[in-house]
Amino acid sequence: MQPTKQQMQLLDKVSTAIHEAGHLTVALALNIECEASARLVPNDHTKNWMEERYWTGTTRALFMTSVVAVAGAVADYWRDDPGVEAWQIDDYLDEALDELSPSDVAQFPSPGKRPRAVARALALLRNHKRFFEWAVVELVVCEEINEDDAAEQFLISLEVG
Ligand SMILES: [Zn+2]
Repeated sequence: MQPTKQQMQLLDKVSTAIHEAGHLTVALALNIECEASARLVPNDHTKNWMEERYWTGTTRALFMTSVVAVAGAVADYWRDDPGVEAWQIDDYLDEALDELSPSDVAQFPSPGKRPRAVARALALLRNHKRFFEWAVVELVVCEEINEDDAAEQFLISLEVG
């Protein structure tokens, strides 16, 4: 059975939320004080590389590093395969560079340093899975996580362990 357009839109929204939650989680994990926020907006189809997508997302963080930049793509692969290894993700990235956000790719580390950044992002996502899961749901439902809510929820997720 073919999915309906509504189902496709929801799947795309969840995928976009997973990607942004990846950036957001790793930004906060590297520096809780970094004032990070994320939001989803309906895709306006002005960007060619996103023409088949219904949603687009952005994460803003004071503390943007190459580890934060790869974290969105790392989250995409991690959610498809929770047991994925960092070196596998790094291999996938070689083939997927033109499907990724150009603004992410612009901040990727050089290929020689990328495996380390991917491994670090994956480890941080696994360590902060509770916050990550919260952020995915929050983005799907509310389409936005502001800096205060992100920081507060991150601290709560640390206490709960
Ligand atoms: Zn991204």
